[in-house]
Amino acid sequence: MVFQRNAEPTGSHEMLCEAENDAEILFVCTDETCGRRVVVGKSQPRLTVIDRGDFSVPHVGSRGGVVVDGVEAA
Ligand SMILES: [Zn+2]
Repeated sequence: MVFQRNAEPTGSHEMLCEAENDAEILFVCTDETCGRRVVVGKSQPRLTVIDRGDFSVPHVGSRGGVVVDGVEAA
């Protein structure tokens, strides 16, 4: 993955793991004006959106075998 500070509002946002437990990982968008937060299941493909944030922007995040690509489900 290429880390890139993208100043363009039309770019994609990166999501980072902020917390996790045995079953789920909390991902938070690194764009402070966005504030998107989602919980992703580890053992099964499950996505829960806590805060939608700027859901018009593609969100990409990854951590330790769990890859979130283009998270845009509502
Ligand atoms: Zn975002």
